[in-house]
Amino acid sequence: MLKVQGINVYYGGGIHALKDLSIEVNQGEIVTLIGANGAGKSSTLNCISGLVRARSGSICFQDTDVSNLPPHKIVAAGIVQVPEGRRVFANLSVETNLQLGAYLRYKDRDGVNRDIKRVYELFPRLEERRHQLAGTLSGGEQQMLAIGRALMSSPTLLLLDEPSMGLAPLLVKEIFRIIQEINASGTTVLLVEQNARMALSIADRAYVLETGRVVLSGTAREVATMDEVKQAYLGG
Ligand code: ATP
Repeated sequence: MLKVQGINVYYGGGIHALKDLSIEVNQGEIVTLIGANGAGKSSTLNCISGLVRARSGSICFQDTDVSNLPPHKIVAAGIVQVPEGRRVFANLSVETNLQLGAYLRYKDRDGVNRDIKRVYELFPRLEERRHQLAGTLSGGEQQMLAIGRALMSSPTLLLLDEPSMGLAPLLVKEIFRIIQEINASGTTVLLVEQNARMALSIADRAYVLETGRVVLSGTAREVATMDEVKQAYLGG
């Protein structure tokens, strides 16, 4: 479904953030990228969603080269990102945040209402708080809203950047369970996580990034049993 081939990303000040990075995601999979702070995980997602441009390399999605498309066209093609830190619209209600997720198809009122219902089924807590301002939600609820908002664009491929960040252990479990549920209903998932243990427990395959390069990859089970991974990411 997604083929990222040899991308190089640079930032100002001569930072070479991604170095010939290649990854693939097959339809129906949950693939996870794990790695330390600054390894290039967010840069990889931002590059796929068109927020950051690669200087070289290519990104193909369902056989179309999306490397040079603007972000809104990438969303329209079916790739939707849940950004690190949630970035919900704090001064708007929960429901308006969800409606904005469907911005590119706002004329399809029936479809939008059906999908809002589906998001509320997935996250009953959001329905209870549908008129509450998003900025007053708890961290976990904001994460649910950020995921729900992304689902409102009917993604084929969902990019999740650190969904467990800052959440209490019980909520982390809940968020991961919901990611599995979203995947089981047909959405392919590319998941960036610092919580390698949880990410590997739900993923089909994994890539380990270090300073902008893929250094290890394999099925999630294989990666979880590699000594280097156990030492560096799974607490020995
Ligand atoms: P974290 O887990 O801390 O979010 P990450 O693996 O997602 O880290 P990135 O955020 O992709 O890593 O950062 C990769 C490298 O690129 C880091 O050295 C970072 O400082 C640098 N970088 C990221 N964004 C920018 C930017 N907008 N301008 C300059 N440098 C950046």
